[in-house]
Amino acid sequence: MSNPTVEKYNQPTGGNELPRFAGHTSFFRLPVQSDATGLDVALLGMPVDIGTSNRSGSRFGPRQIRTESVLVRPYGMATQAAPFDSFQVADIGDVAVNPYNLLKTVDAIELAVDKIVEAGAKPISVGGDHTCTLPILRSLAKKHGSMALIHVDAHADTNDEMFGEKVAHGTVFRRAIEENLIDTKKMFQIGLRATGYAEDDFDWSRGQGATVITAEECWYKSLVPTMEQIRETIGPDTPAYLTFDIDGLDPSVAPGTGTPEPGGLSSSQGLEVIRGCYGLNLVGCDLMEVSPPYDTSGNTSLLGANLIFEMLCSLPGCIRRT
Ligand code: MN
Ligand code: MN
Repeated sequence: MSNPTVEKYNQPTGGNELPRFAGHTSFFRLPVQSDATGLDVALLGMPVDIGTSNRSGSRFGPRQIRTESVLVRPYGMATQAAPFDSFQVADIGDVAVNPYNLLKTVDAIELAVDKIVEAGAKPISVGGDHTCTLPILRSLAKKHGSMALIHVDAHADTNDEMFGEKVAHGTVFRRAIEENLIDTKKMFQIGLRATGYAEDDFDWSRGQGATVITAEECWYKSLVPTMEQIRETIGPDTPAYLTFDIDGLDPSVAPGTGTPEPGGLSSSQGLEVIRGCYGLNLVGCDLMEVSPPYDTSGNTSLLGANLIFEMLCSLPGCIRRT
């Protein structure tokens, strides 16, 4: 039941108004509009998987996450967050990507995010492979300068190149650091693990001043204290960006992805990371690398939809009853 005093904002179609399996397929059953005019938050799909190095399929991520998002309800019970009473949110569709050209796709994404920023809205982007995050950061840095970064991933994504290419899903954060899009003193990579090409694969980020928190450092622990420390280091005013590669979570909870690695974060730890971003000056968020063809139950997409909901709840200004 939405609060009548705040019904100026879009509300998701309720599960008792129209069955969840009926109706238009949009993120959280919100209205669809063609651009970010009038919005506080724009939900945007990026159906790209030509930056992927192993299994493909994340081009179908935005569509499947929309489908599974019908089960997400408008209030967070643990956080008491009410994002749809706090912000004007809509689904603005997908970027018109070029499935034959990654560099042109990257430019199209930057332009799409520029338009969201010009409209005064914040982007929450749904991939697609992790390459999509580079043009998002390029766009946001034009407004905010070097940003703090919370990066959940099994991988550092700091290769210099892949098959000779400077732009791919595993090079994103090296490019972003080189281009000064990120303040590395306020950059945290969480969940890194498994096997590398060399023993020092994760040291490049550390050498740039970033903090790497491996999956092993997270095992058997709550990440609430970790996130408290991260909030303290970043501070409440620094523009901060949250990028969440679904493969940061364990394949037992998120099998539908292209480069799964054992020993990942639990779904509750994933929630703790996103909820722990409340109090930061988040200027945008994304959820990348969900690959529906490897998600036979739909549960990876469903989890992804819930993670995106939690991102809305963690934006600054989100109303909470407590
Ligand atoms: Mn990644
Ligand atoms: Mn990854």
